[in-house]
Amino acid sequence: MKTRIVTIILCCFTAFNFAQNDESVLKEVYKTSLTNGKSYEWLEHLSNEIGGRLSGSKNAELAVQYTKAELEKLGLDKVWLQPVMVPKWERGEKEKAFFEIAGFVKEVNICALGGSVATAKDGVSAEVVEVHDFEELAALGKEKIEGKIVFYNRPMQADLISTFNAYGGCVNQRYAGAMEAGKYGAVGVIVRSMNLRQDDYPHTGSMSYGDLPINQRIPSAAISTNGAEKLSEALKQNKELKFYFKQNCKQFEDVQSYNVIGEITGHKFPNEYIIVGGHLDSWDLGDGAHDDGAGVVQSMDVLRLLKKSGIKPKRTIRVVLFMNEENGLRGATKYAEVAKAKNENHIFALESDAGGFTPRGFSFAANSTNFDQVLGWKDLFKPYLIHYFELGGSGADVGPLKTDTNVLAGLRPDSQRYFDHHHAANDTFEHVNKRELELGAATMTALVYLFDKYGVNPISGTKKIKD
Ligand SMILES: [Zn+2]
Repeated sequence: MKTRIVTIILCCFTAFNFAQNDESVLKEVYKTSLTNGKSYEWLEHLSNEIGGRLSGSKNAELAVQYTKAELEKLGLDKVWLQPVMVPKWERGEKEKAFFEIAGFVKEVNICALGGSVATAKDGVSAEVVEVHDFEELAALGKEKIEGKIVFYNRPMQADLISTFNAYGGCVNQRYAGAMEAGKYGAVGVIVRSMNLRQDDYPHTGSMSYGDLPINQRIPSAAISTNGAEKLSEALKQNKELKFYFKQNCKQFEDVQSYNVIGEITGHKFPNEYIIVGGHLDSWDLGDGAHDDGAGVVQSMDVLRLLKKSGIKPKRTIRVVLFMNEENGLRGATKYAEVAKAKNENHIFALESDAGGFTPRGFSFAANSTNFDQVLGWKDLFKPYLIHYFELGGSGADVGPLKTDTNVLAGLRPDSQRYFDHHHAANDTFEHVNKRELELGAATMTALVYLFDKYGVNPISGTKKIKD
């Protein structure tokens, strides 16, 4: 009995000590990020000196060189480039669009969707069919669609608190709108921008023709939310109005690019890998500061903050800057392929790809044992107002690394303003707040520190084995 009491007291004392230690480590990490962070300075360069970094572009190449050089300055154990072939698509000249109503010409702002074909050289002009989903499109059928421009005008749902859910409820119009309309003989597609705000910015993003034959591949563009409202109003007055648009974008052969990787090799379990990353490519209209410059620089700073805070990882910690998330996911696919071939055991992967806004927490893909462990860390984050720890998605780039026993996570910043900027010309550096960005980097570092220290349960469905 006596021995048991002593054991319990000792256990409590040890647990208390651990918690105390973790508290002070987190405090140091947040302090270092807020007083001596590097993420904002890196983002300034990436956004203002380099700019939009579409896969296969000169800017994407400059971003590869820049981030590699910056990682090399951090004194990591290894920094290297992982080759990957990526698609190359160019927007070409600025797009043009207008319609006529009651004798007046109304110009509207559009932008070609990534991967779209061009219009004919002189543009395309046709009557417009407004629809809100693919069912409506199918009900109209070939007879009413052939020769027309299909206008998808389903707005993002404003009452959803997670704007990502609102995005998820709409984005099929952008991604598959041309594929669906092309089957019925439409001559073009105009999609309401994925934006909850009324403004004049058109928002680009990836689209696909699937396996549609070449002759059914029609040009597809996004229209600003203001433009969408104007067009919809005008169609109520005159169903026969003609819409004109012109774009001369082009798809090229695949080109060579790279994932950028830096590593601190673990001193105790070097073949247990923890990765933290974002995607280095961005769309071309803005400078990609939120999507995903923020995630890139935060991930780079995680390794730097670990070093600055005096943490010597037991496990191998890597920063991975993925290429081509936006229009192909080739970098993520390549990274997972190489990791598998080398039999690298990725126990935890964290992505930041939801903007550089105030962090709220994380979303996890994990089994119940591992998720329970995460929930046990929640209180450590309370002083930093980090409260969101939920099961759900992680990130597109880390997704291919999922196994039954590892944990994937995505940083979840406040999402209310994200879609004001997402894939649009106003995704620019001045819309990222320095402290919010740094809080995100610290929050990520804190979670990486905890996973490095405690590991994950290596066996699905059983209790954790402590190391
Ligand atoms: Zn992104």
